[in-house]
Amino acid sequence: MTARPRLTVIGTGYLGATHAICMAVMGFEVLGVDVDTSKIEKLTAGEVPFFEPGLPELLAKALESGRLRFTSDFREAAAFGDVHFLCVGTPQQADSEAADLRYVDAAVTSLAPHLTRRTLVVGKSTVPVGTAARLAELLRTTAPAGDQVELAWNPEFLREGFAVDDTMKPDRLVFGVTSAWAQEQLRAAFGPVIAQDVPVKVTDLQTAELVKVAANSFLATKISYINAMAEVCEATGADVHDLAEALAYDERIGGKFLRPGLGFGGGCLPKDIRAFAHRAEELGVGQAVGFLREIDGINRRRRARTVDLVVELCAGDVAGKRVAALGAAFKPNSDDIRDAPALDVAATLHRMGAVVTVFDPAALDNARRVHPELGYATSALDAARDADVVVLLTEWNEFREISPSAMAAVVRRTRIVDGRHALVPAHWAAAGWDYRALGRPAVH
Ligand code: NAD
Repeated sequence: MTARPRLTVIGTGYLGATHAICMAVMGFEVLGVDVDTSKIEKLTAGEVPFFEPGLPELLAKALESGRLRFTSDFREAAAFGDVHFLCVGTPQQADSEAADLRYVDAAVTSLAPHLTRRTLVVGKSTVPVGTAARLAELLRTTAPAGDQVELAWNPEFLREGFAVDDTMKPDRLVFGVTSAWAQEQLRAAFGPVIAQDVPVKVTDLQTAELVKVAANSFLATKISYINAMAEVCEATGADVHDLAEALAYDERIGGKFLRPGLGFGGGCLPKDIRAFAHRAEELGVGQAVGFLREIDGINRRRRARTVDLVVELCAGDVAGKRVAALGAAFKPNSDDIRDAPALDVAATLHRMGAVVTVFDPAALDNARRVHPELGYATSALDAARDADVVVLLTEWNEFREISPSAMAAVVRRTRIVDGRHALVPAHWAAAGWDYRALGRPAVH
């Protein structure tokens, strides 16, 4: 095998497309593989099918270098690749909290029959612990090369919105391997990353699988912890914003992920903690992570409480009231609306009879497709026109920069719910607004 292995990346969604593009920019020959032919066509034409800052420029560069191509053909992928990265989705099952592994299984089943030489398959998707061992056996028994096909696990920690930097220079690499050869291949495949002094943790398959869900569980817990404090603040008149700031000075606690508000969403945290709790139960250690259900419950209550605040501001009834919803994506700098708290709140208010108009800088097309019943605007001010209440649901920087007086000039009533603690209450109060935020006393 060459010092620079040829790479395939199977599944070209948020994770896979980013990985494929960045690896090609770092000098590898890369073949992206997806069953979604429209995605393959777009990527081949130089179009990133989702919003990710910096990625379109890098796709252009990678295509121009001739090192990056895309296909839907697994035979071609097997012939091309020395190392195959599995980056397909692992969503929550429709009727259970467990992860749906059908895409991972399908990718391996499609690839395996074409693997005729010594090859490393590397899982990057987030999976329940034990999946890697099962897939290793599936590969060994169905690939023509048999024992020559090995499996490793390399969980991915990238954050949407920062995906390029996180891929080029991650906080750490985790290699779950069962042989020295597999470790060598991974070190070769991540050579340019490791050369930047990125720490590498080498471990077994099951620990590598667990690192990812343990990390996401910790992050979800930190967010729900401060939101639990917000609930207590609401019952006492205390201010959770000040509380969080005071806690953050303690270096053991730290301020990151300690921002109170509407809580977490997206295609990872909610489904990952549910799948982890479910898997732990299967393993007979459900009690050990039973608290994750509480974390999920606190998180869901923040959405309900945000709706309550809007209802309170409308004197108990939102029917017929005009609500401007600022934000649709599950977080800023992304167009991802999977399990987005913002759209959950907007859709709930709509069901309660409010006339909801949404604006988001990147996620409008995705939102419109999933929630055609909501109204959509072309700017924040446009959404706020004649509104009875404005509710900030995703903390895009451009929303922080809104002039309270400019917005006051277009609304019917100057009432705002800051679902993300993104605004300075005094500025809004000074412009005549009734300002509300979760876990904070009203300011007006
Ligand atoms: P995604 O839905 O954006 O992309 C998944 C891709 O896999 C799609 O393009 C789909 O067409 C493709 N696919 C499905 N079945 C296939 C098959 N049999 N063969 C080839 N391609 C197939 O999902 P994502 O957000 O990129 O997440 C992928 C995995 O990475 C998940 O396990 C997720 O938990 C994990 N992850 C995601 C992120 C993130 O920020 N998005 C971060 C870390 C880890």
